[in-house]
Amino acid sequence: MQGEVSVCKIFTFDAAHQLIGHKGKCSNLHGHTYKLEVVLKGVPSVEEGQSDEGFVIDFSDIKQVVQGAVVDRLDHAFLAMGNEPVLETLMATRSKVALLSFRTTAENLSAYIAYELKQASLPVYSVKLWETPTSWAEVLAADIPEEGPSYRLYGGCDYE
Ligand SMILES: [Zn+2]
Repeated sequence: MQGEVSVCKIFTFDAAHQLIGHKGKCSNLHGHTYKLEVVLKGVPSVEEGQSDEGFVIDFSDIKQVVQGAVVDRLDHAFLAMGNEPVLETLMATRSKVALLSFRTTAENLSAYIAYELKQASLPVYSVKLWETPTSWAEVLAADIPEEGPSYRLYGGCDYE
């Protein structure tokens, strides 16, 4: 749309996961330093003299919502579908687990994150999740059904 500007805030978090049934190395328990790019799009405010004049949204407001809605839950957690044998031990020893109930591929995680941010009323345009420095998955918020993402059963995991 004319006059619109994209703004992006980048986050990182560390997490472990295990893709049960994966044909490659990702069937092993392993971790990633994920990089998350949250893009918002809008027309900057033209209200003269107001605090948000010239802003689409304040970066610190994006940070607060994204930290609270997703990063705090996922950082230094085991990202679980629920079928991982190690899950029982982690629960028993009170290790941090994010029980997500979908296969924890970059594709599914980016859809989950975009949906959570939408639910948190952030005017999110897209979410790009880097699993490694050379691999990312991206979801446009507009492509997520109202009732939430339909998670893919099979997806990639990069192990370079
Ligand atoms: Zn992985």
